[in-house]
Parts: sequence; C-alpha cells; structure tokens
Amino acid sequence: MKGKIGLEEHFAIQETLGDSERYFPKDVWPKFSARIMDLMKFRLEEMDEYGMEMMILSLNSPAIQAIYDPARAAEVARIANDTMAEAISRNPKRFRGFAALPMQDVDAAIKEMHRAVKELGCVGILVNGYSQVGDENSWKYLDDPIYEPFWTEVEKLDVPFYMHPRDAMPCNAHTTDGHPWLVGAAWTFGVETATHTLRLLCSGLWDRHPNLKYILGHLGETLPFCIWRVDSRIARERRGVPAKRPLYEYMAENFYFTTSGQFRTPALWNTLMEFGSSHVLFATDFPFEEVGDACVWFDNCTLGDTDKELIGRTNSIELFKLTDL
Ligand code: ZN
Repeated sequence: MKGKIGLEEHFAIQETLGDSERYFPKDVWPKFSARIMDLMKFRLEEMDEYGMEMMILSLNSPAIQAIYDPARAAEVARIANDTMAEAISRNPKRFRGFAALPMQDVDAAIKEMHRAVKELGCVGILVNGYSQVGDENSWKYLDDPIYEPFWTEVEKLDVPFYMHPRDAMPCNAHTTDGHPWLVGAAWTFGVETATHTLRLLCSGLWDRHPNLKYILGHLGETLPFCIWRVDSRIARERRGVPAKRPLYEYMAENFYFTTSGQFRTPALWNTLMEFGSSHVLFATDFPFEEVGDACVWFDNCTLGDTDKELIGRTNSIELFKLTDL
C-alpha cells in the first residue's frame, strides 16, 4: 500500500540519545544511533522504499520524563520540539510531530504544549509514561490531581495524546531480577504502560474530559485482550473506583491503537474486533523496529482494502486533521 502514515516514529537529540543505548549491544549501537539522530537521509529512503508517505515524529524514551530537574526538563523539551519543527519545515509533506512535554512542572508543560501546537504546528502530544521529579525515586503518574489543568488544556486544544512506554519505576524493577531480557520493549514496557492507562481510566478522567483522544501503541499494550476481565472484576467489587462507567466504554469512544512493534495479524484482529477499524492506525516504532518489517507485514496481512486504507492512512488524516494530504 502506498501513502501509509506512521504514528510512532522516533528521533533523538544529543541530550536524550543516551537513554536508548542500554537496549542495544555495543556493536549495534553506532548504526542505531546514526539512524535515530537522522531526520533526513536514511529515514526518507526507507519510507520511499516501503510506501510510507509520512512519519509523525516523536522523541525517544524516557527522555524528558527522566530529567529530574524541572527547569532542565523544560529546556530539553524546547530543544527537542524546535529540532523536530525544523525537520518538519524542511520536509512538510513527509513529517509532522508530537510535542515532548516537561510533565515535572504542570504550568511549564501547558506552556510548552501551547507553543508546540500553536507556534510549531505539532499535531499531538506524546509523553513517555510517569515523570521523575527531583530524584530517581520521586515520580508522578498522570492521574495525579495536579494534572487536571493539563488535561483540560489538551481537551480544549483538541490534539490527541499518545501514551508511550518507559521502564517500570526503579522500586518495581525487582520483578524482573535475574531476567534482564524481559526489561524494556520485550515485556516491562507493556505492563508499565497498561497499568498507567488503567490508572487514568479508573480515575474518571474521561468522565471529566469526554472528548480527550488517547492513543496507545503496540496494539493497545495488551489492554484490548484483557479489558473485559478488568471490567468484570471491578463490577463485582468496585472498592471505590471513581470511574462511572465500564472502562471498555471509554476505550471504545476515546482510544486509538497503533500497530507499532506488533506485526502480528491475530493480535491485530483482536484489537479490530474489540474496537473497530476506525480506531486502529498504522505505526512502525522506527528505528527500534524496521520500517520494512512493519510495512511488508501490513501490506500483506489479511485485511480488506477498505480497512487497510483506513488503518494505513485515512484514520490518521482525520484524527490529526491533515487536511493538506
Ligand atoms: Zn516507541
């Protein structure tokens, strides 16, 4: 399929590059680091080869969310957003961007979000999970009441919010002690991100902000498969959960799921059967995954042409209001 638009397509800046190094063997790192820093040559060549018209860019993880000093977090977020905006201005037909935000300081996050969306033209927000504030062991999840003004502004701006994975908090990292191969994208990213999302759902966020659009990568971080059981158990024993409705209902109305890093047709069908083809969008997770692997799988998977066109392209045009495509 030609004209695909990808939603989880990462870049790094010098200040955040080192965050990705731990996930790669030493001999692979030089090539990987060159690819994630590149916002021109390799990227456009791979996109052309596999029929990707556009990448909606986002910073690597955890990046801003792991900068303990709020002022420095705000500074690096500005540098990242400016770098991305410059790349978009060089190739406006091929790139758009998600803003990175310093969630350590709510006012600074709101200020940078307004600048990124209104001045730099960002089409969404992407945050890498919880943010550490002050030191490694102090963190804020986004269901904390301090973020209420932030969610109000996201809803007002009407830009989608992408919850991207990061590793578990240091105090919870012991669950994989002795099993380093499970850390990161293999397993712990998904558990952490699904749990964070359930916190938001249970907090009643969508009762207060019914128009908030929320995106999950990796075909929903296991939640499309598990949500019936979560709702079923909460219905039997509510234990004071603030959310007024079954969590599935908020997801069906407000959630979008991307194919990033999950190039598996039965998993895609599970998400499609739960939420429908208007809520699933194409993504690769470049350069942590190969553009070629994502595109060859998607182009050949067992989907009708109408659904392929929706997932590969037109859902994104509608969600991000890409009216010039
Ligand atoms: Zn990613």
